[in-house]
Order: sequence, then structure tokens, then C-alpha cells
Amino acid sequence: MQLQEILFSQGFGTRRICIGLVQQGFVKVGGECVTDPEQDFAQEGLAFEVEGKPWQFHERAYLMLHKPAGTECSAKPSTYPSVYTLLPAPLRQRPQKGGAVGVQAVGRLDQDTTGLLLMTDDGQFIHKMNSPRHHVPKVYEVTTKHEFDDKFIARLLAGVVLDDDPRPVRAAACERLGERLLSLTLTEGKYHQVKRMVAAAGNRVEGLHRSRIGPLALPADLAPGQWRWLDAATLAALR
Ligand code: URA
Repeated sequence: MQLQEILFSQGFGTRRICIGLVQQGFVKVGGECVTDPEQDFAQEGLAFEVEGKPWQFHERAYLMLHKPAGTECSAKPSTYPSVYTLLPAPLRQRPQKGGAVGVQAVGRLDQDTTGLLLMTDDGQFIHKMNSPRHHVPKVYEVTTKHEFDDKFIARLLAGVVLDDDPRPVRAAACERLGERLLSLTLTEGKYHQVKRMVAAAGNRVEGLHRSRIGPLALPADLAPGQWRWLDAATLAALR
């Protein structure tokens, strides 16, 4: 693939801008400045630099973000900054078929929820991960307002009825981590599901953190607000 095409596909600007970036010496591949926009490179995983900033070529973008509190998972947030502002411009601008741009969050977390959020420009992946039939377990660490007993945990495991569906929803797993701290695993993704389940079982959520999606745990060294590419093995395991 030509270097100008690589830059364009990754969201570095219009084709004209990408050609200019290369011709003006702003692009390095393997540490060497490349000034021919038509020079071909093998693509997936290619490491290059644009204006001194390192980048990796990914035909499709799959990444994880450590969502901080006080951010909204919407491109048009109502009150708090959007999680998309935490991503570099190319990830927000990479062109998609049909004229859309940028990566999207795979499902949403509430503004006050922290933790693991996947983002991608692969619509099929988003659909699959959000499908109730795919049953991807998502693990939340829940801080409750009140101390709870074993009956509270039993209620969440047995199933509670939420206001929009007569069928009970169950936690796939639920474990005490502290006096007011529990780990709750869900395989569905209803609106405000953790908060509504905890309320239906007679308590209240004071803090919510997603620590795992399927085989992927939020890495301890990924600080709030930071993002990272998913590696091929993690991606294969998630699918
Ligand atoms: N359940 C909730 O109530 N909120 C979230 O952000 C995620 C799951």
C-alpha cells in the first residue's frame, strides 16, 4: 500500500494533506524519513511516525480505553466531556465506508462509571459484542451505599425484576470483595443494568468500575484516560 494511502486510511487528513505530510518530510518509517508518497509498504502493524508521533497501521482499529469518571460515551455529550476527546485525532477522523468517520465505543458506560471500554471502527464487531446471544461476560466492581448480607448476593444470583421487563435478570456470578464491595458478572447489557439490579435487590450503587470483558482484564498499567491497541490474540479470544 502506498504511504499516502496508509496515512489517509489512518485518519491523518485528506489525500492532499497526506501527500504534503510525506513530501515535506514529516513522515518516518523505521526511523528513516520517507519523502515519496507513492512508496509501498507492507501494511498491518507497520510502525511509522508522523510529525514525531509514533503510529501503527491497523486496517481496522480495535482498542481499549480506561474510561475515567466524568466522561460520556457519546460523541455529542450533554454535560461531561466525551470519551472520544481522550483519543488522538487520527482515531476520531479515520474514514469509514459510507462517509462515517472514527472509532465508536462498543456499548456504553454511564458518565460516573470507570473502567474497560472497547472501541473500534468494525461495525460487525460492535454488533456481535453487544448482541445478547453472544453472552460476553462483563465483570463490574460495585461499591454499594449500604453494607450487604449473603441474602443480597443470593437475590442478585437468583434474579431480580427490572421495571421494563417482567422476566428476571440474573447475575452470572456475584462475589463479596468487601463490606460494601462486590464483583458482579453480567452477560447482558441492559440500560443502567447494574444500578437497576442493585436497587431492585435493595441497595444502591455508589461506585461502578468495569474490570473485565470476556477474556480481557483492564491492564493494571493502563491509567484512567489512557488507551491501547488490542493485540491479535486478545482480539481473537474476544471474537
Ligand atoms: N450498568 C450500569 O448501571 N452502568 C454502567 O455504566 C454499566 C452497567
